[in-house]
Amino acid sequence: MSAQQTIHVGGEWREAASGATREILDPASATPFAVVAEGGAEDTDAAIAAARAAFDRGQGEWPRTPVAERAALLRRVAALLRRDREELGLLESRDAGKTLEEGRVDVDCVADAFAYFADLVMNESGRVVDAGSPDVHSVVVHEPVGVCALITPWNYPLLQASWKIAPALAAGNTFVVKPSELTPLTTVALIRLLTEAGLPDGVANLVTGPGSTVGARLAEHPGVDLVSFTGGLDSGTKVMRAAAGSVKKVALELGGKNPNVVFADACTDDAGFDTAVDQALNAAFIHSGQVCSAGSRLIVEESLRDRFVAELARRADRIRLGHGTDKDAECGPLVSAQQLAKTEEYVASALADGAVLRAGGTRPEGPGYEGYFYRPTVLDRCHRAMRVVREEVFGPVLTVETFRTEDEAVALANDTEYGLAGGVWSGDPGRARRVAGRLRHGTVWINDYHPYLPQAEWGGFGKSGIGRELGPTGLAEYRETKHVYQNLAPRPVRWFAGG
Ligand code: NAD
Repeated sequence: MSAQQTIHVGGEWREAASGATREILDPASATPFAVVAEGGAEDTDAAIAAARAAFDRGQGEWPRTPVAERAALLRRVAALLRRDREELGLLESRDAGKTLEEGRVDVDCVADAFAYFADLVMNESGRVVDAGSPDVHSVVVHEPVGVCALITPWNYPLLQASWKIAPALAAGNTFVVKPSELTPLTTVALIRLLTEAGLPDGVANLVTGPGSTVGARLAEHPGVDLVSFTGGLDSGTKVMRAAAGSVKKVALELGGKNPNVVFADACTDDAGFDTAVDQALNAAFIHSGQVCSAGSRLIVEESLRDRFVAELARRADRIRLGHGTDKDAECGPLVSAQQLAKTEEYVASALADGAVLRAGGTRPEGPGYEGYFYRPTVLDRCHRAMRVVREEVFGPVLTVETFRTEDEAVALANDTEYGLAGGVWSGDPGRARRVAGRLRHGTVWINDYHPYLPQAEWGGFGKSGIGRELGPTGLAEYRETKHVYQNLAPRPVRWFAGG
């Protein structure tokens, strides 16, 4: 396989039909370090045809493979991921600009997801329905949806692909995956592992290439039964529109503008204060804020604001930026020049609207910062009219708003068109649960931020998306449900007299 053969169709690695290629940049140095095939509509059609053929073939093929064998394959994939942890973690770090440790953690989470769906699918086998007659046998069974198009973003390339691929395979589907054009390398590596684990040819297909051609074709193609998309709101809206023409199933995991609500009663002693500040930093700045669930809106009780923001800013200024493989680096760069420019533009607009800069607000200077680095930035005195508070920046930018009452805190936290995730910090468990119950977000953390569990659903309210990944619902997305009603003693119904 040559470096440019990154398109996988029917078990074969290929270059793009057009011969086009794309350089993949290391965002820490802004220099190319790999070349991949730049696929187009022709490659996409071929991949869909291969997935279609693999799905539609007869007995013994993947959709009809016994569930125990499908689960065993998923477990082998989990083991291979663990075997290749260092290599994959490094590749992800280089491609997406995250630290090596973040890359390793991603691989662990991905292996856990494969193992989880292997266990789940073994225990989710439909049900017998009591039809009210001993002469009727009625069952509800699950079947695969068909050919799935899986479209993923650049911030968690391996993880997002796996949250789709693992349940899609567990349920017996075939698929075409399209990674972000910026970060395709670990998805290519994952497809190789699926082959090594013994997945039949044609079940897993991959097209590297841009969203405007490959992604758009997958979304509109009548040969695709389901499109599962993770990415931004604009692209998600286009995918939904394109999918409507063939009424395919649509699952969308979109952006977030996530509140992290801190009550003063969470910080009544030094340990509570330290924990809430530490986790607010983690919520906002891990992976340089390029996280869909980033706690990018700090909503802090007015009486606590000055002390909290001063400490937060002091510590944000001390976050060490660097190349992912630099062992002292705590945060990597942004993924691209475009993402850096977007972040700078949001900060400039906030300052023009009256926000007060407490930390960051600039690119770091000097050797080692040739890539797309931006300092963790804290913007105080923010309010709802500012774009930086309403729109997803997807960079290391934290805005600060304040509240006086519980109702005000809830209203601010819910005042977003998104609804992906949020945090509540309180020393009063009753208040914390009450507020969590009122938040219109798909995940709420109480006295924590960011952990997720493969067995718990992930997804958003509002414009954060449609459907859920992970958990039993994450498997259900990839299944059709069929009712089979069997009459064990058939006789005429005589509804019509004519006979
Ligand atoms: P993006 O929307 O630009 O791209 C996502 C994917 O869609 C890429 O593979 C891209 O090539 C493709 N694409 C672009 N236009 C398309 C089109 N018209 N039709 C089909 N596919 C198209 O997003 P991004 O910049 O790569 O990722 C960042 C976004 O992803 C953020 O908004 C973030 O919040 C979101 N995200 C959400 C979750 C979640 O779980 N909800 C997780 C990670 C990222």
